Amino acid sequence: MSLDHRLTAEHEELRRTVEEFAHDVVAPKIGDFYVRHEFPYEIVREMGRMGLFGLPFPEEYGGMGGDYLALGIALEELARVDSSVAITLEAGVSLGAMPLHLFGTEEQKRQWLPKLCAGEALGAFGLTEPDGGSDAGGTRTTAVLDEATDEWVINGSKCFITNSGTDITELVTVTAVTGRKEDGRPLISAIIVPSGTPGFTVAAPYSKV
Ligand SMILES: Cc1cc2nc3c(=O)[nH]c(=O)nc-3n(C[C@H](O)[C@H](O)[C@H](O)COP(=O)(O)OP(=O)(O)OC[C@H]3O[C@@H](n4cnc5c(N)ncnc54)[C@H](O)[C@@H]3O)c2cc1C
Repeated sequence: MSLDHRLTAEHEELRRTVEEFAHDVVAPKIGDFYVRHEFPYEIVREMGRMGLFGLPFPEEYGGMGGDYLALGIALEELARVDSSVAITLEAGVSLGAMPLHLFGTEEQKRQWLPKLCAGEALGAFGLTEPDGGSDAGGTRTTAVLDEATDEWVINGSKCFITNSGTDITELVTVTAVTGRKEDGRPLISAIIVPSGTPGFTVAAPYSKV
Protein backbone atom coordinates (compact mmCIF):
# COMPACT_ATOMS: atom_id res chain seq x y z
CA MET A 1 0.00 0.00 0.00
CA SER A 2 1.34 3.45 -0.82
CA LEU A 3 0.26 6.71 0.79
CA ASP A 4 -0.07 9.94 -1.16
CA HIS A 5 1.38 12.77 0.94
CA ARG A 6 0.77 15.51 -1.62
CA LEU A 7 -1.48 18.40 -0.59
CA THR A 8 -4.83 18.75 -2.30
CA ALA A 9 -5.19 21.69 -4.71
CA GLU A 10 -7.18 23.55 -2.04
CA HIS A 11 -4.57 23.02 0.68
CA GLU A 12 -1.77 23.97 -1.73
CA GLU A 13 -3.55 27.20 -2.66
CA LEU A 14 -3.96 28.05 1.02
CA ARG A 15 -0.28 27.29 1.64
CA ARG A 16 0.81 29.56 -1.19
CA THR A 17 -1.50 32.38 -0.08
CA VAL A 18 -0.22 32.27 3.51
CA GLU A 19 3.39 31.97 2.34
CA GLU A 20 2.99 35.16 0.28
CA PHE A 21 1.27 36.94 3.15
CA ALA A 22 4.03 35.93 5.58
CA HIS A 23 6.77 37.17 3.24
CA ASP A 24 5.06 40.29 1.87
CA VAL A 25 3.13 41.55 4.90
CA VAL A 26 4.50 39.98 8.11
CA ALA A 27 8.25 39.85 7.45
CA PRO A 28 8.82 43.53 6.56
CA LYS A 29 6.92 44.86 9.59
CA ILE A 30 7.10 42.44 12.50
CA GLY A 31 10.54 43.43 13.83
CA ASP A 32 9.29 46.93 14.59
CA PHE A 33 6.56 45.54 16.83
CA TYR A 34 9.11 43.71 18.99
CA VAL A 35 11.15 46.88 19.32
CA ARG A 36 8.07 48.81 20.46
CA HIS A 37 6.66 45.89 22.59
CA GLU A 38 3.39 46.19 20.67
CA PHE A 39 0.84 43.69 19.43
CA PRO A 40 0.50 43.59 15.59
CA TYR A 41 -3.22 44.46 15.35
CA GLU A 42 -3.21 45.23 11.62
CA ILE A 43 -1.50 41.92 10.77
CA VAL A 44 -4.03 40.04 12.93
CA ARG A 45 -6.91 41.92 11.31
CA GLU A 46 -5.63 40.92 7.88
CA MET A 47 -5.28 37.29 9.00
CA GLY A 48 -8.91 37.52 10.12
CA ARG A 49 -9.99 38.86 6.74
CA MET A 50 -8.16 35.94 5.09
CA GLY A 51 -10.27 33.55 7.17
CA LEU A 52 -7.32 32.02 9.03
CA PHE A 53 -8.94 32.24 12.48
CA GLY A 54 -11.99 30.39 11.17
CA LEU A 55 -10.20 27.62 9.28
CA PRO A 56 -11.35 24.51 11.24
CA PHE A 57 -14.80 25.79 12.26
CA PRO A 58 -18.18 25.19 10.58
CA GLU A 59 -19.53 27.90 8.30
CA GLU A 60 -22.66 28.31 10.41
CA TYR A 61 -20.49 29.90 13.14
CA GLY A 62 -18.54 32.06 10.68
CA GLY A 63 -15.80 29.51 10.04
CA MET A 64 -14.29 28.35 6.78
CA GLY A 65 -15.44 24.73 7.10
CA GLY A 66 -11.86 23.50 6.72
CA ASP A 67 -9.84 21.06 8.78
CA TYR A 68 -6.91 20.98 11.20
CA LEU A 69 -4.52 20.17 8.38
CA ALA A 70 -5.41 23.53 6.81
CA LEU A 71 -4.64 25.25 10.12
CA GLY A 72 -1.35 23.34 10.40
CA ILE A 73 -0.34 24.42 6.90
CA ALA A 74 -1.10 28.08 7.66
CA LEU A 75 0.81 27.88 10.97
CA GLU A 76 3.83 26.32 9.30
CA GLU A 77 4.06 29.07 6.69
CA LEU A 78 3.65 31.84 9.28
CA ALA A 79 6.15 30.25 11.68
CA ARG A 80 8.80 30.11 8.97
CA VAL A 81 8.74 33.90 9.11
CA ASP A 82 7.65 34.66 12.68
CA SER A 83 6.76 32.15 15.42
CA SER A 84 5.00 34.80 17.50
CA VAL A 85 2.47 35.64 14.78
CA ALA A 86 2.00 31.89 14.29
CA ILE A 87 1.26 31.27 17.97
CA THR A 88 -1.17 34.19 18.02
CA LEU A 89 -3.19 32.29 15.40
CA GLU A 90 -2.59 28.88 16.97
CA ALA A 91 -3.68 29.97 20.43
CA GLY A 92 -6.58 32.04 19.10
CA VAL A 93 -7.97 29.00 17.30
CA SER A 94 -6.99 26.03 19.49
CA LEU A 95 -7.05 27.60 22.95
CA GLY A 96 -9.49 30.48 22.47
CA ALA A 97 -12.19 29.25 20.11
CA MET A 98 -11.90 25.45 20.02
CA PRO A 99 -12.90 24.79 23.66
CA LEU A 100 -16.05 26.85 23.02
CA HIS A 101 -16.77 24.97 19.83
CA LEU A 102 -16.24 21.54 21.42
CA PHE A 103 -17.72 22.11 24.87
CA GLY A 104 -19.68 25.39 24.84
CA THR A 105 -23.45 25.70 24.90
CA GLU A 106 -25.23 26.71 21.70
CA GLU A 107 -25.75 30.18 23.20
CA GLN A 108 -22.02 30.55 24.00
CA LYS A 109 -21.07 29.44 20.49
CA ARG A 110 -23.46 31.92 18.85
CA GLN A 111 -22.23 34.70 21.13
CA TRP A 112 -18.48 34.24 20.68
CA LEU A 113 -17.53 32.10 17.69
CA PRO A 114 -18.39 34.46 14.78
CA LYS A 115 -16.15 37.22 16.18
CA LEU A 116 -13.37 34.77 17.05
CA CYS A 117 -13.54 33.17 13.59
CA ALA A 118 -13.33 36.61 11.97
CA GLY A 119 -10.23 37.50 14.02
CA GLU A 120 -12.09 40.57 15.31
CA ALA A 121 -11.83 39.18 18.83
CA LEU A 122 -9.35 36.86 20.53
CA GLY A 123 -9.96 34.22 23.15
CA ALA A 124 -7.32 32.75 25.47
CA PHE A 125 -6.99 29.70 27.70
CA GLY A 126 -5.54 30.15 31.18
CA LEU A 127 -4.16 26.93 32.61
CA THR A 128 -0.57 27.71 33.63
CA GLU A 129 0.06 29.30 37.02
CA PRO A 130 3.16 30.91 38.50
CA ASP A 131 3.73 27.73 40.53
CA GLY A 132 3.19 25.19 37.79
CA GLY A 133 2.57 24.53 34.11
CA SER A 134 3.13 20.86 33.28
CA ASP A 135 1.40 19.75 36.47
CA ALA A 136 -2.14 20.78 35.50
CA GLY A 137 -3.56 18.70 38.37
CA GLY A 138 -1.72 20.97 40.80
CA THR A 139 -3.88 23.96 39.85
CA ARG A 140 -4.26 26.30 42.81
CA THR A 141 -6.86 28.67 41.40
CA THR A 142 -10.26 28.00 42.97
CA ALA A 143 -13.81 28.82 41.93
CA VAL A 144 -16.73 28.81 44.35
CA LEU A 145 -20.36 29.25 43.35
CA ASP A 146 -21.88 32.08 45.37
CA GLU A 147 -25.43 30.88 45.81
CA ALA A 148 -26.76 34.33 46.70
CA THR A 149 -25.73 35.82 43.37
CA ASP A 150 -25.46 32.59 41.34
CA GLU A 151 -22.00 33.71 40.24
CA TRP A 152 -18.67 31.91 40.31
CA VAL A 153 -16.08 33.64 42.47
CA ILE A 154 -12.63 32.83 41.10
CA ASN A 155 -9.43 33.29 43.10
CA GLY A 156 -5.99 32.83 41.64
CA SER A 157 -3.49 34.00 39.05
CA LYS A 158 -2.23 32.65 35.76
CA CYS A 159 0.88 33.29 33.69
CA PHE A 160 2.11 32.80 30.11
CA ILE A 161 -1.47 33.16 28.78
CA THR A 162 -1.17 33.83 25.05
CA ASN A 163 -3.55 36.50 23.68
CA SER A 164 -4.96 37.27 27.14
CA GLY A 165 -4.02 40.93 27.29
CA THR A 166 -4.72 42.47 23.88
CA ASP A 167 -7.24 45.23 23.16
CA ILE A 168 -9.36 42.70 21.25
CA THR A 169 -9.26 39.91 23.87
CA GLU A 170 -12.87 39.20 24.74
CA LEU A 171 -12.54 36.16 26.96
CA VAL A 172 -10.13 33.96 28.85
CA THR A 173 -11.26 30.45 29.72
CA VAL A 174 -9.56 29.66 33.03
CA THR A 175 -9.12 26.37 34.83
CA ALA A 176 -9.98 26.32 38.51
CA VAL A 177 -10.55 23.79 41.27
CA THR A 178 -14.29 23.56 41.91
CA GLY A 179 -14.39 20.58 44.25
CA ARG A 180 -12.93 17.18 45.10
CA LYS A 181 -13.46 13.86 43.40
CA GLU A 182 -14.35 10.78 45.46
CA ASP A 183 -10.69 9.73 45.46
CA GLY A 184 -9.69 13.12 46.89
CA ARG A 185 -8.14 14.47 43.71
CA PRO A 186 -9.14 18.00 42.68
CA LEU A 187 -12.08 18.50 40.34
CA ILE A 188 -10.96 21.06 37.79
CA SER A 189 -13.43 23.07 35.71
CA ALA A 190 -12.97 25.46 32.80
CA ILE A 191 -14.82 28.75 33.23
CA ILE A 192 -15.21 31.52 30.64
CA VAL A 193 -14.15 34.90 32.04
CA PRO A 194 -15.18 37.72 29.69
CA SER A 195 -12.73 40.64 29.55
CA GLY A 196 -13.90 43.43 31.81
CA THR A 197 -15.24 41.08 34.48
CA PRO A 198 -14.77 42.86 37.84
CA GLY A 199 -11.59 41.61 39.53
CA PHE A 200 -10.03 40.34 36.29
CA THR A 201 -6.74 42.15 35.75
CA VAL A 202 -4.02 41.67 33.17
CA ALA A 203 -0.37 42.25 34.08
CA ALA A 204 2.16 43.95 31.84
CA PRO A 205 3.47 41.92 28.88
CA TYR A 206 6.81 40.10 29.26
CA SER A 207 9.13 38.00 27.14
CA LYS A 208 8.36 34.28 27.29
CA VAL A 209 11.55 32.83 25.93
C1 LIG B 1 5.29 31.16 24.32
C2 LIG B 1 4.47 30.48 25.37
C3 LIG B 1 3.08 30.56 25.31
C4 LIG B 1 2.30 29.94 26.28
N1 LIG B 1 0.93 30.06 26.21
C5 LIG B 1 0.16 29.50 27.19
C6 LIG B 1 -1.27 29.66 27.18
O1 LIG B 1 -1.85 30.28 26.29
N2 LIG B 1 -1.98 29.12 28.20
C7 LIG B 1 -1.38 28.42 29.22
O2 LIG B 1 -2.09 27.96 30.10
N3 LIG B 1 -0.03 28.26 29.26
C8 LIG B 1 0.74 28.78 28.27
N4 LIG B 1 2.10 28.62 28.30
C9 LIG B 1 2.69 27.91 29.41
C10 LIG B 1 3.15 26.51 29.07
O3 LIG B 1 2.05 25.68 28.82
C11 LIG B 1 4.01 26.07 30.25
O4 LIG B 1 5.18 26.83 30.22
C12 LIG B 1 4.29 24.60 30.20
O5 LIG B 1 3.11 23.89 30.52
C13 LIG B 1 5.42 24.21 31.16
O6 LIG B 1 5.14 24.66 32.43
P1 LIG B 1 6.26 25.45 33.30
O7 LIG B 1 6.80 26.57 32.46
O8 LIG B 1 5.67 25.77 34.64
O9 LIG B 1 7.42 24.42 33.46
P2 LIG B 1 7.51 23.23 34.51
O10 LIG B 1 6.22 22.51 34.60
O11 LIG B 1 8.10 23.79 35.77
O12 LIG B 1 8.57 22.30 33.80
C14 LIG B 1 9.96 22.67 33.76
C15 LIG B 1 10.74 21.50 33.21
O13 LIG B 1 10.54 20.32 34.03
C16 LIG B 1 10.06 19.24 33.27
N5 LIG B 1 9.06 18.49 34.06
C17 LIG B 1 7.93 18.99 34.58
N6 LIG B 1 7.27 18.05 35.28
C18 LIG B 1 8.01 16.92 35.18
C19 LIG B 1 7.86 15.60 35.69
N7 LIG B 1 6.81 15.24 36.43
N8 LIG B 1 8.81 14.69 35.36
C20 LIG B 1 9.89 15.04 34.60
N9 LIG B 1 10.08 16.29 34.12
C21 LIG B 1 9.16 17.20 34.39
C22 LIG B 1 9.42 19.87 32.04
O14 LIG B 1 9.43 19.00 30.92
C23 LIG B 1 10.33 21.07 31.80
O15 LIG B 1 11.49 20.70 31.08
C24 LIG B 1 2.91 29.21 27.33
C25 LIG B 1 4.31 29.13 27.39
C26 LIG B 1 5.08 29.74 26.43
C27 LIG B 1 6.57 29.63 26.53
